[in-house]
Amino acid sequence: MDFKSRIRTVPDFPKPGISFKDITTLLKDREAFHAAIEALASHFEPMGVDMVTGPEARGYIFASAMAYRLNAGFVPIRKPGKLPYKTRGISYQLEYGEDRLEVHEDAFEPGQKVLVVDDLLATGGTIRATIDLVESLGARVVGVAFLIELTELGGRKRLQDHEVFSLIQF
Ligand code: AMP
Repeated sequence: MDFKSRIRTVPDFPKPGISFKDITTLLKDREAFHAAIEALASHFEPMGVDMVTGPEARGYIFASAMAYRLNAGFVPIRKPGKLPYKTRGISYQLEYGEDRLEVHEDAFEPGQKVLVVDDLLATGGTIRATIDLVESLGARVVGVAFLIELTELGGRKRLQDHEVFSLIQF
């Protein structure tokens, strides 16, 4: 399956200079969407994943489908103030400014094997924070999956201590 040709690149979105990778063109193609979930999930299946997690929002599309395929649970990681129960949070640096992610403090059991999923790896800041947040709750990150990796940004280097797998590289 040629996944790469199903991704639409939109120049100057959401601001000038950004070359946005649009996944909707892959999602609406039923064979490509199915094959992408299958390829990502089967890569991590031998690890015996208990839980799939990832930050909102586009990553959820892949994370929840992979959780279903792997017979694992799903834990949402969200922007501040969205989760209803007690949370644990982590702040991280963006190119301009700071962002924060939160998770329910009882989302994971100690030692649980967790697969972290997002749609796209750019600088790796978002997923580095996600991994640190999951591990701060005592769970074990056994892998990190992306549909797309922007290799020139070198985000993979920030995740060196984990098994990283991406389906499409630009
Ligand atoms: P980063 O923390 O730099 O790895 O950024 C990753 C997040 O930003 C992902 O969740 C993506 O959804 C989004 N993102 C960053 N760059 C792009 C891009 N060129 N096209 C689409 N989404 C992007």
